[in-house]
Amino acid sequence: MKFKYTDYHIHTNWSVDIKDNGPTFRDYLEIAERAKINICFLEHYELYYIERDKNNPFYNGKIDDYLEELDQLKENYNFFLKGLEVDYYKDREVELMEFMDDYGKELDFIGGTVHEWIYTYPVTSRERLERLLNKIPMKQVIDDYFETYRKMIESKIFKNVCHIDTIYRYINENDIKPSDDCDTSDERILNLGRLCKKNNIRIEYNLSGVRFPIKRPFPSKQIVSQLKLEGAKFFISSDSHSLEFFEETFPKVIQAYEFLGLID
Ligand SMILES: [Zn+2]
Ligand SMILES: [Zn+2]
Repeated sequence: MKFKYTDYHIHTNWSVDIKDNGPTFRDYLEIAERAKINICFLEHYELYYIERDKNNPFYNGKIDDYLEELDQLKENYNFFLKGLEVDYYKDREVELMEFMDDYGKELDFIGGTVHEWIYTYPVTSRERLERLLNKIPMKQVIDDYFETYRKMIESKIFKNVCHIDTIYRYINENDIKPSDDCDTSDERILNLGRLCKKNNIRIEYNLSGVRFPIKRPFPSKQIVSQLKLEGAKFFISSDSHSLEFFEETFPKVIQAYEFLGLID
């Protein structure tokens, strides 16, 4: 790779939560070149929706088009990685392993992720989370999140995992306040991180939290520092969904590498 540091988590119009006229690979690459930072395209890859939703960018085998488009760009740019943010579902482990067998080698980087465990109720959508909380007590929602994340780590399907405490994107003291019976301790997040270390899995230090009322990375700087002391491995990212956010966050990505003493 051309530059010293890499932002590992970039979403373009290949991601379902970005409009068709949203940022393209080239749009980001132009900024990244000026910023002197490598980038990894990490588009959402969610089996459940890819199979059902004709409007999903990866519907009907379009992953091959995605890879082809990126391969063509490799002829002109040598500072990006071909990646995917792949959703883990505990009832789809076999298909996920098959997917990794089929595409693992064609991609430079794959991040495992948990956004939902009940289909169509991602906890990373405020509106969907509110609906979920109307059906299920908050304590159970948080417990189920941690349990699903633990299963993803222990499945060993992924060597890298994204935003380990994203359940707190909206559930926190600045937004939807946790009820008294919820266990929101740091220890719980630390234990997931320790499990990653034990299984030789890299943990994302995701700087996107400043976009939300929680105003901190996932996980927090304190937790990352502690896990680093204990020997955990990290990758750093902006989780950009827009050019503006990428442009304002890349200096913080570089600072985070310096703070963690990491070089790719
Ligand atoms: Zn995500
Ligand atoms: Zn993402």
